Amino acid sequence: MCRHAAWLGAPRTLASLIHEPGQGLLRQSYAPRLQRHGMINADGFGVGWYDPARAEPVRYRRAIPLWADANLPALAQVARSGCLLAAVRSASDGMPVEESATAPFADGPWLLSHNGRVAREAVRELAGDGAPESPCDSAWVAAAVFLRRRAGLTLGAALTEVVRHAGAKDPEGRLNLLACDGGSLAATAWGDTLFLILDDGVLVASEPLDDRPGWQAVPDRSLVLASSGGVRVQPL
Ligand code: GLN
Repeated sequence: MCRHAAWLGAPRTLASLIHEPGQGLLRQSYAPRLQRHGMINADGFGVGWYDPARAEPVRYRRAIPLWADANLPALAQVARSGCLLAAVRSASDGMPVEESATAPFADGPWLLSHNGRVAREAVRELAGDGAPESPCDSAWVAAAVFLRRRAGLTLGAALTEVVRHAGAKDPEGRLNLLACDGGSLAATAWGDTLFLILDDGVLVASEPLDDRPGWQAVPDRSLVLASSGGVRVQPL
């Protein structure tokens, strides 16, 4: 199980997800506290953020452990945005360890991370005709979501449709998805832990990034929707 985190709210740096909190993604890459599958997340990492200079998000992915990238701390200190996403990866059995298999996956303004594992046969027919960038299950899940988003579904509706269909076809599937578009964020809890905390925005993460008391566990099989209008958690 990988670990992921995202922020939507007043502009912050990527370091606020990774390096600054005591249990940020740097620490979660080698010592996650609530991870049920896999022990460390050393098979790569990725970050994405939005900058007014570009229509599409900026993305940086590597197929090395997060702690091994000596250039990341400075980059994360200056990459500042009102919408941020970061993930550290523990590749599922049989999945390639390469950049193209590493979250966040991207399409136009959308970024997506998958925390879990699902049979590829359970998502293949949802992903349309084009081949995703990687044979990794998460790349197929991302392609299925992006296809629906392009067809006009909201981010929340696209996640819901994919998770429900794939979850029905693969009852063992773990489908915690986290997606954003710069102005809104959506996440599912389906088989793994998910938490959120409200501040001058909302922080959503596989597990708390620090020991503040305000972290709320999102119930399994729920959808989190966040935008400038507020945050909602609803059953899937
Ligand atoms: N199945 C995905 C992969 O192999 C996600 C893995 C995870 O959540 N550990 O990358």
